[in-house]
Amino acid sequence: MRNHNPVSRFLSSKPSRKRAIEAMCAHCMGCTQDHFEPTTKADIRNCSAPHCPLYFYRPYQPANSTPKSKID
Ligand code: SF4
Repeated sequence: MRNHNPVSRFLSSKPSRKRAIEAMCAHCMGCTQDHFEPTTKADIRNCSAPHCPLYFYRPYQPANSTPKSKID
């Protein structure tokens, strides 16, 4: 069965930059190794913190999201 919790997925599989960013954003939205917030994907997609260093690299972004050069 697929593990939908990015935090526990990061901790239980081979580390990668992609999994680390997914885990950090999920943790930011309230997920832990043992708890998955059902609204995590939407919350990350709709993240309202453009000054966060991970903002432009966060997962689940809409296809038409604003590129970094448009925000600076
Ligand atoms: S990009 Fe948003 S969801 Fe991801 S760590 Fe930063 S503030 Fe949290």
